[in-house]
Amino acid sequence: MSTASIKLGCIADDFTGATDLANNLVRAGMRVVQTIGVPQGPLDTEADAVVVALKSRTIPALDAVEQSLAALRWLQAQGAQQIYFKYCSTFDSTPAGNIGPVTDALMDALADVEGSDFTIATPAFPDNKRTVFKGYLFAGDVLLNESGMQNHPLTPMTDPNLVRVLQAQTRRKVGLIDYATVAQGETAIRARIAALKAEGVGMAVVDAVSNDDLLRLGPALAGMPLVTAGSGVAIALPANFGLAPASQAAALPAPGGLQAVVSGSCSVATNAQVAHFIATGRPALALDPLRIAAGENVAAEALAWAKGHIARGPVLVYSTAEPAAVKAIQGRLGVEQAGAMVEQTIAAVARGLVEMGVRQLVVAGGETSGACVQALGIAQLRIGGQIDPGVPWCHAASPVAPQGLHFTLKSGNFGTEDFFTKAFTVLNA
Ligand code: ADP
Repeated sequence: MSTASIKLGCIADDFTGATDLANNLVRAGMRVVQTIGVPQGPLDTEADAVVVALKSRTIPALDAVEQSLAALRWLQAQGAQQIYFKYCSTFDSTPAGNIGPVTDALMDALADVEGSDFTIATPAFPDNKRTVFKGYLFAGDVLLNESGMQNHPLTPMTDPNLVRVLQAQTRRKVGLIDYATVAQGETAIRARIAALKAEGVGMAVVDAVSNDDLLRLGPALAGMPLVTAGSGVAIALPANFGLAPASQAAALPAPGGLQAVVSGSCSVATNAQVAHFIATGRPALALDPLRIAAGENVAAEALAWAKGHIARGPVLVYSTAEPAAVKAIQGRLGVEQAGAMVEQTIAAVARGLVEMGVRQLVVAGGETSGACVQALGIAQLRIGGQIDPGVPWCHAASPVAPQGLHFTLKSGNFGTEDFFTKAFTVLNA
C-alpha cells in the first residue's frame, strides 16, 4: 500500500534524540514513524511525521552534511511539508559543527522553497530543564558552561551564549528573538523575523523558558520550510497542521507474547531500576564481562536460564554495575572493548529472547539500544505511548518477529525506579 504524504519530516542527529523528538510529536497528536538511517525505499505505512535517526552529532561536518541531505531528499520524496532538524538540548557542537554546517546545507538545498532564507534555532526543552533566555542556554539552574557540559569529551560547551556559539559555525548572520518578543506571541514574533531578515540575518536563536513560550512560538513557525531545535519545539508544531493531542496518535497493535528486560546501562537510574526489579522477587541474571572476554558463551547460558523462568512473567538479563565495578572491568579490558563486547552479548540475548517468543522487550542503555535494534534487524519503528518522559513504547517488525514486537529503548538516566515493571503495566493497561 502506498501512503499519503507526511506533514513533518525530521532529521535527528542521534538515535535516542530521535525517539525523544518522536515522543513529543506523538504527545501533541502526530502519528510518528522513526527510521534507523535513511530508508532504502518509500515509507510503507501511514504517518503524520517521520523522524530519520542519524548518528551525525560528532562525525566530521562534511559527513554530517551529506547524511542530512540524503535524509532531506528522502523526506521530500515522502511529501514532507516542513523539515525539522533536531539536535541535543545542550546544543552539542563545536566551532567545526555540526549544527551550523548542517543547517546551512539544508537551507541551501531548500533555496527554491519560499521562506527558506530564514530559520530558527532553539534547544529549549523546559520539561527537561533546558531554557534559553537572552540567547543564553541554562541547564537546570546553571548556565550551560557550568553544567558539566564544559567538560564533555567530544563537544565541550564553554560558551553559554548560543548566538556566539552558532555564529562560529555558520556563514549566515545569526540574530536573536528574545523573551520580550516571544512573550507577545505570533504577530510580534513574525514582525521580529521580518526585521531580522531585513538586517540580513539568516537564522535566529529563540528564547523560551516554559512550554507556554514554545506554544506561543509555534504558530509563527507555520510555513517555515526549515525549523532547527531540540525536541521542545515539537510540542507546538502539530497544531499548525490542524492536529490536537489524541490517544489514537499513540495507538500501537495489541500487545502479546512473553516479556523481558535487557540492561547494559550502568547509569545511576538504571542501577536503581535493576535493584528494584530484583527486590520485587522476579528472576534476574547478571552477565559477567570477564567471562564474555574469556570467550565463554554467556549469551547462550543466559538464554537457557531465561527459558526456565520466562513463562511465569518478565525476566531481567543485565550487565548493569556500579561505577567502581565498571571501572575495574574497563581497567582490565579497555573502555571501548568492554563496551563493545557487553553490547554485542546483550544484543545476542535480546535477539534470542525474541526468537524464544518475547514480544514485549525493555532495553536499557543508549548504546545498548543501538546494538539491540541492529541485532533485531529493525529499520522502522512506530512510536506509541509514553512510559516516562522521553521513553515511549515502540512497535516494529523484525526478521525474527515478522508480525512485530513491542519494545522500549530507555536511555541511561531516564525512568522512575519501578520502570522495569511499570513499562509492562503501561503497555497492557
Ligand atoms: P547509558 O544510556 O546508561 O549511557 P549505554 O548502553 O549507552 O548506557 O552505555 C553503557 C556502556 O557500558 C555500554 O557500552 C555497555 O556495553 C557498557 N557496559 C555495560 N555493562 C558493563 C560492565 N559491567 N562493565 C563495563 N562496561 C559495561
